[in-house]
Amino acid sequence: MEPCRLCPRACGADRESGRTGFCGAGACPRVFRWGPHFGEEPPLVGEHGSGCVFFSRCTMKCLYCQNSPWSWNGGGEDITIPRLTGIFRELAEKDRCSNWNLVSPTPYLPFIREAVAPLLAEGVRLPFVWNSSGYEAVETLEAYADLCDTALFDLRYANSETALRASAAPGYVEAARAAIRWAYCRPRAASAVPPLIVRILVLPGLAEEAIESLAWIATELSPDVPVSIMSQFTPVYRALDTPPFNRKVTQEEYESVTEAAADFGFENGWIQGYEAADPALALLGENMPAGHGAVGRTAE
Ligand code: SF4
Repeated sequence: MEPCRLCPRACGADRESGRTGFCGAGACPRVFRWGPHFGEEPPLVGEHGSGCVFFSRCTMKCLYCQNSPWSWNGGGEDITIPRLTGIFRELAEKDRCSNWNLVSPTPYLPFIREAVAPLLAEGVRLPFVWNSSGYEAVETLEAYADLCDTALFDLRYANSETALRASAAPGYVEAARAAIRWAYCRPRAASAVPPLIVRILVLPGLAEEAIESLAWIATELSPDVPVSIMSQFTPVYRALDTPPFNRKVTQEEYESVTEAAADFGFENGWIQGYEAADPALALLGENMPAGHGAVGRTAE
């Protein structure tokens, strides 16, 4: 972190001396909200929900971000390491969540490790979900592998130009694919939690890129990788003025992606229903292309 190279942007900010990096993160953890969340993929929810901690700031700047009040604009509060320990304790002991779901944790990894240390020493431990855009550096994943039982990574683009234009993320495609490959290939003991779930958010005008991402997973890794195909894109924030992000995904676009998933042989994972009023998930392979399951997802 000194200088900071935690994410692939490697902007080199000297955060220890009070400077902030491209993402806006500084010298202490900043958290927007936390609590049990029942909208994640089914294996992550359990009876008491996934224990989400939404960290402020983000290493990407997506024009269409639904979380812009805290990802772009830094909403939330600076907290101490002991306070962060208290949040993790609350999620484990009071809320009895299934996991600690670290949402956009990358700029804060050193603080998170320090915060959970006293809990781990006491034997209080939940599985860690590393929940991010997929814009990760493999060196950082290696260095903080102890904070990643499940990699819940997006694969948002297949074209680097699009990633630059829509998310100001240079090298996104290479970085996200390397991160996903790392999570897939990583040696692990048998575990009750999935090591990897890849989220494919279908973007307006970019269904072909989503299909290309699915093709990459199927051919370079395996169609056994659990994927979560999402229809929930909503034009908000800077997307409102930026075609093609200023509209919803059409049903035809969405179904071209879910049909491609079936063609590539994906059977593990979930698809959201198309209708906004119906955020249900269906198991891939059961109700293709866009069926209706029993488990809901809410957009954060
Ligand atoms: S995490 Fe933030 S400060 Fe660190 S390299 Fe990435 S953008 Fe820069």
